[in-house]
Amino acid sequence: MSDKPTLPLEALSLSITQYVVCSKCADELAALLPPQSLQDYAAIDVGFTDYGIQVWCRRHKANIVHIDFQGAKMPADFRRLETS
Ligand SMILES: [Zn+2]
Repeated sequence: MSDKPTLPLEALSLSITQYVVCSKCADELAALLPPQSLQDYAAIDVGFTDYGIQVWCRRHKANIVHIDFQGAKMPADFRRLETS
């Protein structure tokens, strides 16, 4: 990974356009009363692996997605932008 930032500063704000979700969590959540947000219900771990990056459902002990970088060195921006 490159240490040199490649993203514009505004990209460090919440920029997610499509959330990654565990389908089992989403199914369970649909039946929960009172309703709860998926963000509050989900318990996920995200981290780098020998292949790339993995999203893991802690609640179901299951892989959600494992992105294989296929050996490519991807630029990543770890600057922290504090929001209040
Ligand atoms: Zn789950």
